[in-house]
Amino acid sequence: MVKRRDFIKLAGATGIGLTAAGWSLLAAADGASAPVAVGVPTNTGIKGRVVVIGGGMAGATVAKYLRIWGGTGVDVTLIERDSAYTSNIMSNLVLNGSRTIGSLQYGYGTLASRYGIKMVKGEVATIDPVGRAVTLTGGTRYAYDRLVIAPGVDFDILPGLETAEAQAKVPHAWKAGPQTTALRNMITAMPSGGVFVMSIPAKPYRCPPGPYERACVVADWLKRNRPGSKVIVLDANPNIIAEPNAFTEGFALHGVTYVPSVAISSVDAATLTVNTSQGNFRGNVLNLIPPHRAGKVVAANGLADAGGKWTSVDVLSYEAKVAPGIHVIGDAAATTQPKAGHIANQEAKVCADAILRTFSGRALDPSPHTNSACYSPITFDTASWLTANFAYDPVTKTMQPVPASSGEAAARSQDNFNEMNKWFTALMGDSFA
Ligand SMILES: Cc1cc2nc3c(=O)[nH]c(=O)nc-3n(C[C@H](O)[C@H](O)[C@H](O)COP(=O)(O)OP(=O)(O)OC[C@H]3O[C@@H](n4cnc5c(N)ncnc54)[C@H](O)[C@@H]3O)c2cc1C
Repeated sequence: MVKRRDFIKLAGATGIGLTAAGWSLLAAADGASAPVAVGVPTNTGIKGRVVVIGGGMAGATVAKYLRIWGGTGVDVTLIERDSAYTSNIMSNLVLNGSRTIGSLQYGYGTLASRYGIKMVKGEVATIDPVGRAVTLTGGTRYAYDRLVIAPGVDFDILPGLETAEAQAKVPHAWKAGPQTTALRNMITAMPSGGVFVMSIPAKPYRCPPGPYERACVVADWLKRNRPGSKVIVLDANPNIIAEPNAFTEGFALHGVTYVPSVAISSVDAATLTVNTSQGNFRGNVLNLIPPHRAGKVVAANGLADAGGKWTSVDVLSYEAKVAPGIHVIGDAAATTQPKAGHIANQEAKVCADAILRTFSGRALDPSPHTNSACYSPITFDTASWLTANFAYDPVTKTMQPVPASSGEAAARSQDNFNEMNKWFTALMGDSFA
């Protein structure tokens, strides 16, 4: 069993040993202060040109650590289509009003000013792996020696939700932003005795505990503000796939109705009804999380070799198996690790280290470690947590969990809730500050 204090340390550890930056993040995790900037060295002797697609958890981190570890000889261009990043992590707390969407937004100014990363606002449309360049939708071309793709996920369209109008009536809010605020408004507009129906896609999807957490947070808010209301969870999986103890207890506490092994056949946005293999469910609010796939730039450029959805990678470097010189990290990569922001941050560090070793003609680290942490609010002031540590297995060539240092909290608590905020501040600071 992992103890709480050990967990905070694990949550802050870097994927490739404790560098100066890693130690500063540990200090931040324990002391709740922002990570200490370590600057960009000028004398590493490493030279190369890296383009990063996507400034989310994975992309921002890889860009930052390429400069911190590689120095000024490593030219890093980060291409992001939005002006600011909105964190998905903690976005379930917008639904119960305890956070605003604005509190989850992170600008790119520090990555540019402190680390000298060249920020480009734009959307990458095409990748030329032979000419080693990417092209934006507007036509501008950026050449690279190594490309890192970190576009997160896109969502399948559920039958019946093909139009923008239907999608607006049934928001998934699984990418934090306007849909999160829309869902919050729908919940507050619910009458007492109302019904909130949500669905969970089959794994893999981003943040395995996230939908169960959402059910608890919404049910807790409804219990206190809209008495007699009900939350129904339709899960495509055969059981609760993350933190089963915490969520079984949370569902019992809030009276959540949990229906496993549900296949959705169609959705009627006009009547807010979802038709499934287990019957039809009608709600005052319908929140259906569709199956995911890697961000569209992946499949559009022939890189979705894993099930047509994700990119297979060598986890010593995150280099795509089908495209030498192109690395894929974060939710878009197919690995044995969960699709999570903390893991995205860890994969980014392993990838940055591998690219820098390659630029300087050194062998890859043969035994990387990564870790994932997730705090899950169960009520407005208590939380549980889950941690998993992974080590490289040279036989299967995959990252495998280290059982002795993985597990879930013994019980939800207010203490965990407070630690959650420290962990979040440290993680986001490590990626964006
Ligand atoms: C409700 C919820 C709660 C969560 N809670 C947790 C948690 O507690 N702990 C945890 O570890 N994880 C959590 N997650 C998961 C976490 O948010 C994701 O796993 C993480 O964001 C993945 O990082 P990423 O960099 O791969 O993708 P993202 O963070 O989504 O970033 C992708 C970026 O790429 C950009 N982009 C995409 N395509 C292009 C293109 N062609 N050109 C330019 N830019 C592009 C996008 O605009 C975006 O900024 C949660 C997720 C949700 C939905």
